Order: sequence, then structure tokens, then C-alpha cells
Amino acid sequence: MAILTTEGVVLKVHALGDTSRIVVVYTRDLGLRKFVAKGARKTPSRFGFALEPLSRSTFVFYQKPDRDLHLLSKAEVLDPLGSRLADLTRLAHAQAALELVDRLVWGEEPHAGLYDLLVRTLAGCAEASVAALPAVTLAFQLQLASELGYRPRLDRCAVDGRPVSQRRAFSPQRGGLLCDACATREGGFVALTPEALASFSLLLSRPVAEAGEYIELPRSTELLRVVEDFFRLHFQRFRGLRSLDVLRSLEERPNPGEPS
Ligand SMILES: [Zn+2]
Repeated sequence: MAILTTEGVVLKVHALGDTSRIVVVYTRDLGLRKFVAKGARKTPSRFGFALEPLSRSTFVFYQKPDRDLHLLSKAEVLDPLGSRLADLTRLAHAQAALELVDRLVWGEEPHAGLYDLLVRTLAGCAEASVAALPAVTLAFQLQLASELGYRPRLDRCAVDGRPVSQRRAFSPQRGGLLCDACATREGGFVALTPEALASFSLLLSRPVAEAGEYIELPRSTELLRVVEDFFRLHFQRFRGLRSLDVLRSLEERPNPGEPS
């Protein structure tokens, strides 16, 4: 049994018996890992903030070969992000990033690019303006898809590589723009406005945390819908972003101070 040390972000936590927890962590070097943290439910816990969802921490654990659960020996927090995010909107967007990684990524295969993207996005959720957060989340969705091998193709026809149609015909099914011949033959595309296409391209290529500087949401509802369709078609485990549904339902609730 080997003792390993790795850095990771806590995605979620479950209770295990009266005193312990199971912690699901996306690690930089060892992919998705599940740890048993004995005594983590006692207060005060010897793990402090290290096992809270959103925390970035260092984990020392005993790796059991061919096992799904590994015994955690030590954990030290590097960034207790959840404790820094007092604002409900910021928390919901940060949770949405965790939710996407938890749904779409599995296995113990490392993917450092994806890990770094997650860390930068969580930092963006703390530092960007609240108005910019929907753009940050959309940029994260698109760049996460790219890291997972589903980068939407915008430079050439996604079917045959020919020059793209002047109609800016984006096919969620094909995962990219189409040429004239494919657009006519296949249909099922959304004709993007020039602004939506320009935003799409920037969201894919520029730093996630700056997304609010070049796209205004929810004005770009067109883009939101296209990305949603694209995700539903290519990621069967995608079920929309529940963390943001919670936020929407809170926003729709009438203000208790006002007569309804
Ligand atoms: Zn084509």
C-alpha cells in the first residue's frame, strides 16, 4: 500500500457513519478520487476547512490497489474558497463548476489542463464582478468541453472541413459551424448573429475569468441556448446546471418586504 500526496479541489462530501466522511476530490495529478476521512464529522475536525466543498487542499492518502475508496491520512487547506464566497450568486456559480466536473469527468486519469481550468474558474467566481458570472460559467462550459475533446469547431465546416457558410450555421449535433452544402443538406442548425459568433470564439479562447469583459449575458440568450443544446447532445450525463436553477428560483421569489 503506497502513501501518495496530491493537490485537489473538493467536489462533494457525504456522511459515513456517525463520525466519518467520504470526500470526492478532483486532483491535479491523479484524476477523480474518493477518500474516506475518519473522524471528519467530529467537531472540531482535525481536517479544518480542507474537506469543505470548493476548498483546494493537499491530500495525503493510502492508495489501495484496485479499490475505489482510499483512506485519507492528512489534508491541509491551500485555499478555503467556500469560506471566502459570502455572496449567494458567487457560491452558485462556483458550485455549478464543481457540478459540471462531477458529472462529466470520471476515472483516475490525470488531466492537468482541466484541473487548472477549474482552479482558474473558481478564482474567477471569487474575483469577477457579479454581473460577469454568467459569462464566466459559459466560458468554463465551453473550455471544459474542449479539454474533454469536444471543442466546437468554428474555423471550418465541422463535417467536411470546407469553408464555413456565410449564414454562420452552427449545428449543435455536429458540434460546429457548417459549410453551405452541409447546412442545406442537414438543416438542424442555428444561424448565429455576427455578435454571437464573435462572443462564441472569444469564450473558447480567452481566459475564463475575463469572460464578462467581452460578452454580456443574459443578453446573449441565443448563445446560451446553443451551448445548452450542444451539451445535451454530446454529454449524456449533462442535466443542466442545478446550482444555477436554485439561484433562478431565488431570484424569481417575490421580495418578502413588498406586498404581492
Ligand atoms: Zn460541410
